[in-house]
Amino acid sequence: MLLKLILLGVGIWLIYRIFRGYGKSLQQPPPPPIEDDMVRCTYCGVHQPKSESILSNGKFYCSQEHRNLGKEKE
Ligand SMILES: [Zn+2]
Repeated sequence: MLLKLILLGVGIWLIYRIFRGYGKSLQQPPPPPIEDDMVRCTYCGVHQPKSESILSNGKFYCSQEHRNLGKEKE
């Protein structure tokens, strides 16, 4: 009788654990939406968020350096 109760308890605990794990996986937040548009450095072609890029004459650059280099190329 006691063994049955223990087994029942273990069974419930296992179901609880599986359920929790399942719920957890369901509740996992989706990857944060990319609020920033990804833009391409005109000079080297690297992709990075718009907010981190330098905009110059309607062109995006990954760094100040590349902006200067890109300007020279024009
Ligand atoms: Zn670059």
